[in-house]
Amino acid sequence: MTFAELGLHPALLEALTVSGYTQPTPVQAQAIPAMLAGRDLMVSSQTGSGKTAAFMLPALHHLAELPPPAFDSQVPAQRKGRGKAPRFQPATPKMLVLAPTRELALQVTAAAEKYTGKLRHIKTVAILGGMPYPKQMELLGRNPEILVATPGRLIDHMESGKIDFSNLQMLVLDEADRMLDMGFIDDIEKIIAATPETRQTMLFSATLDGVVGE
Ligand code: AMP
Repeated sequence: MTFAELGLHPALLEALTVSGYTQPTPVQAQAIPAMLAGRDLMVSSQTGSGKTAAFMLPALHHLAELPPPAFDSQVPAQRKGRGKAPRFQPATPKMLVLAPTRELALQVTAAAEKYTGKLRHIKTVAILGGMPYPKQMELLGRNPEILVATPGRLIDHMESGKIDFSNLQMLVLDEADRMLDMGFIDDIEKIIAATPETRQTMLFSATLDGVVGE
């Protein structure tokens, strides 16, 4: 089985070649076709199994196939970084990845940036606890397609109207078991409730037993 046989976008195949990935890992070979088919997934996977690419590649394939973003003239001045911005336009991401820690969120963001080398119109932004708010406002002002976030900080921005999930198409819960261990259940439920029911949902976890499966 090759990445090309999975039907991934040519720009992604090129990025994979540059990365030196010749073959999908087992979790990628199983998850990528299911996700491309639009199914919701619960995946049991360990760190190091290639799980990040297992959700990022099909998600980027989907985003790459969407029509290109609106013309620059239709982008509010504030998004172009010019003039005074009287009112902040909420970010309207198409994909959200929730991760338990800053480190994991940054790894996921780095992976997305690596695979979008040839798809520069797809922007990814990390929203993390501990990062200064003005910097995060600037990042959200770019209206990225993909947000990668730790749950607590994301809630802060949602509650102050900085993010609008009405266009969200894909939600990934990465290392869900760790997020539950860390007590993020209420935050996660609040975030999910703010997303459209039509979204595609993917849960990745070392275990699917007990409370995670539930
Ligand atoms: P992850 O499980 O997502 O943390 O990935 C573990 C490591 O495997 C990362 O350094 C990836 O860059 C790498 N990796 C992911 N997919 C592949 C692949 N198909 N072939 C070789 N390395 C890969």
